[in-house]
Amino acid sequence: MFCLVCSYYFFFFFFFFKQMNKNSSNIMALTPNTSNKRETICIFGTGDFGRALGHKMIQSGYPVVFGSRSAQKPSLIPKDAEMLSHAEAAQKAAIIIIAIQRQHYNFLTSLAEILHGKVLVDVSNNLKINQYPESNAEYLAQLVPGAKVVKAFNTVSAWALQSGTLDASRQVFVCGDDMEAKQRVMDVVRALGLTPLDQGTLLAAQEIENYPLQLFPLWKFPIILSLCLTTFFFFYCLIRDVIYSYVYDNQDFSFFITISIPNRVCPILALILLALVYLPGVLAAIIQLYRGTKYRRFPDWLDKWMLCRKQLGLVALAFASLHVLYTLVIPIRSFVRWRISSQIISQALNNKTEPLNNTYAWLSDSYLALGILGFFLFVLLGITSLPSVSNNVNWREFRFVQSKLGYLTLILCTAHTLVYGGNRFLSPSSYRWYLPNAYMLSLIVPCIVLVVKFVLILPCLDKPLTRIRQGWERNPQYSEQSNYIINKSAV
Ligand code: NAP
Repeated sequence: MFCLVCSYYFFFFFFFFKQMNKNSSNIMALTPNTSNKRETICIFGTGDFGRALGHKMIQSGYPVVFGSRSAQKPSLIPKDAEMLSHAEAAQKAAIIIIAIQRQHYNFLTSLAEILHGKVLVDVSNNLKINQYPESNAEYLAQLVPGAKVVKAFNTVSAWALQSGTLDASRQVFVCGDDMEAKQRVMDVVRALGLTPLDQGTLLAAQEIENYPLQLFPLWKFPIILSLCLTTFFFFYCLIRDVIYSYVYDNQDFSFFITISIPNRVCPILALILLALVYLPGVLAAIIQLYRGTKYRRFPDWLDKWMLCRKQLGLVALAFASLHVLYTLVIPIRSFVRWRISSQIISQALNNKTEPLNNTYAWLSDSYLALGILGFFLFVLLGITSLPSVSNNVNWREFRFVQSKLGYLTLILCTAHTLVYGGNRFLSPSSYRWYLPNAYMLSLIVPCIVLVVKFVLILPCLDKPLTRIRQGWERNPQYSEQSNYIINKSAV
């Protein structure tokens, strides 16, 4: 226990100071030079986004001129900004932000001469993924061939810009064919206090435009899977713990639905999902050993599964945290207080004190201790999966935490459940309508993962696997296949 507490503080301070060092160097590098006068920026369009960006630019010291169809300056336009016609405004700046919907771009062809050589920043988004055959930025480049088109800012919302709540979306994806133009736009992004991420040429624009339209792509599988498992285990426990008692003992335990059943389902889900984080790595190792090479694609389903392991782990951590909360309220539950008091009263009435069962006390304390340690490491895994922390550790450190400590977490949580079961596994009274206790089912996947992993670390399998992951091939003919892709070594 002492060692674990020490290791917790070690990890905490290690990540904290690493983060501090990195942040301080970022601050040094990114602090804009306020002594330089900023160049004028032109914004076409006085809609929500144009106004929000103009407001932010003015705050950051850029003179802003709006190009609009209207000659009258609306009250919502920042008062320090100028407002002119499109042609007049374009002449005042070298960087022009097109804050207009794509379907209205046509009028820009009439300004082709004025826009020649200027940097046009396309900020537009679409309503559907891959709505047009080409990206909006490429379409803009076709309409105004003499201009240098750069895609940027489309992942930042007008509301976040205006309200200053940019913490969650500080990154700005930037792409463009002209390196100098892209660099100038990235400098503006930095000056606004945002972080530019160079995504390459305009070919990347379609992907950047699709990005804000995606709905948690890597979370779909973990969430659907956990919903299905939750439903299954909820009804399984309902049948065993409520309906069975009602049918056979005529006892109404329907209130179990609120705390008892969720407190059974949550740890079951946490354990199964944690095991499913490590199962694809084990399967990948078996496939690599069987094929004798790492230079062949894994099946698509395995690739996708491996990509969403972090999300699976975080959903598992959420279930484990719920289990902890549900467990904390057990002593104040009316049913539990009634059960304890009736046991005390029956002992008093019988004038007989139950002796302390030492074996049971050992089992109960060990089960709790394993749960506490397992949850502690689970939280540590969750913390290291945060981008701000994982960006500050090297690959070996990350692998150590996610793989070695991850397996230790799985071992502790599986042991927690095994000890909870104690000697009830073989007792016939644990089976109702031939259905075993739900926690017994939850042990199947973790036990399979741990047993196979144990077999895989035997030297006779570990050595060839390590060589394969270092590039050795048992049968080099595979490397001649044209469509191979180097698979990431499974963690
Ligand atoms: P909006 O409120 O509809 O404003 C667009 C502006 O375009 C209008 O205010 C108008 O300005 C101009 N416009 C409209 N019809 C035009 C036409 N036929 N010819 C020329 N100009 C015309 O849209 P928005 O929300 O500001 O979004 C602007 C662009 O930013 C869009 O491409 C959007 O995808 C992108 N974007 C928006 C957000 C956001 O949070 N809103 C976030 C990221 C990206 P004038 O009346 O001054 O001419």
